[in-house]
Amino acid sequence: MTDMNDTLKPDWLTEPADLNALSPYLWPATARRDPSGVLTVGGLRVTDLAAEFGTPMYLFDEDDFRARCAEFRTAFHDFDVYYAGKAFLCKAVARICAEAGLGLDVCTLGELKTAIAAGFPGERMVLHGNNKSAEELTTALRHGVARIVVDSFDELALLKELAADTGVRPTVLVRVNVGVRADTHANIATAHDDQKFGFSLRTGDAAAAVAYAHDADGIELAGLHMHLGSQIFGMDSFEVGVARMMKVRADFIRSCGAELPEVSVGGGFAIAYRDHHQPLAPAGIADALRRFGEESCRELGVSAPRLAIEPGRAVVGRSACTVYRVGTVKNVEGLRTFVSVDGGMSDNIRPALYDGIYSAVLAGRLTTAEPRLSRVVGVHCDAGDVVVRDDYLASDIHSGDLLAVPCTGAYCRSLSNNFNHTPRPPVVAVGGGTASVWVRRETYDDLLGLDLG
Ligand SMILES: *Cc1c(COP(=O)(O)O)cnc(C)c1O
Repeated sequence: MTDMNDTLKPDWLTEPADLNALSPYLWPATARRDPSGVLTVGGLRVTDLAAEFGTPMYLFDEDDFRARCAEFRTAFHDFDVYYAGKAFLCKAVARICAEAGLGLDVCTLGELKTAIAAGFPGERMVLHGNNKSAEELTTALRHGVARIVVDSFDELALLKELAADTGVRPTVLVRVNVGVRADTHANIATAHDDQKFGFSLRTGDAAAAVAYAHDADGIELAGLHMHLGSQIFGMDSFEVGVARMMKVRADFIRSCGAELPEVSVGGGFAIAYRDHHQPLAPAGIADALRRFGEESCRELGVSAPRLAIEPGRAVVGRSACTVYRVGTVKNVEGLRTFVSVDGGMSDNIRPALYDGIYSAVLAGRLTTAEPRLSRVVGVHCDAGDVVVRDDYLASDIHSGDLLAVPCTGAYCRSLSNNFNHTPRPPVVAVGGGTASVWVRRETYDDLLGLDLG
């Protein structure tokens, strides 16, 4: 490694002792290498899966996902747990959540229709959104969606009308903007004052919305909601947010005698994308949230509400990896090696959008070559088209190799796009010794079928 490389790599990146190792913090639970060194997930070889389903491919470990659903269900046994579908949702995922006893959080008509198509029970669903349409709200009411998290006075007025039209009485939580800047990327921080979500606590809108919902004919007010953002490692911002919501709640209980039996603290719990990341385990998060709720309510002299959470990334993030085929390899002497793969920002836009960091390993074979500072890039015509910004990869990596990137279960397929008219990859799930296609690969006919010119 040259001196120049030292300045090119981030401080946290160190040369790996073993390029073939699969970090237990990053890979799906069933990921292994078989005796010949091929990566296997759920006992199936990625070389065989790539031959059958093509690359790029999102490879989903069903057992891993079921285990994480169960871990959250157990750690948060006294909470309502809604899996946040926006992290990744398809019918199979909705069904597994239902079987695991989790609820489901949806925030668009498309997510709602997917849940309905999967037969997900309305009484375990919550609907979000800062600009819900009449169609979304009506669909939710007709499907018996248990909680609607209201986000504006316009929505409250619309909901009142729709409740009268449909004869369904919605149960709502009021989303409070608690004015906490969570320590995460600006695009995924959602509870400081100057952003679009929720009723501002500072301006008094939150208290006004609670009073409005309480008084509104045809609407049932169950409590309050906050969501601080995503990929949050510490619990400090949760402590402040919970205390502020509990204060609003206690004030209202005192002035109106209402009960407000529920408080949702949203999602946002971080996962490790690299070994140096140290997220909290679900049990630790549950303990902290319980304590924050109980302590605040004790100080305020009111009974503690039932708590709810909405984890997305922390449930699904590690359950999938993406398998790519290497194309060109360009070693720029004194700088780094650019390894091009057959996907990119169309299947994982997080590096470009949120400075998301990832890692990669050779998936089809072992290597004994030297590590070389590398960057995995995609096929797209954009310099921001990066899959793994900084990692050490084998110096013998070459065209035709398979490369796998872990931790792509959350916000990769769900944020995927057709940039450069690129068809989106399939989601292939392995479980019980077999592979099944949960979401098929898009075809050029799919794309051209939209073009009516
Ligand atoms: C995005 C979102 C979540 C899930 O966030 P994660 O970081 O994936 O846990 C939960 N609730 C709301 C309201 C959200 O917008």
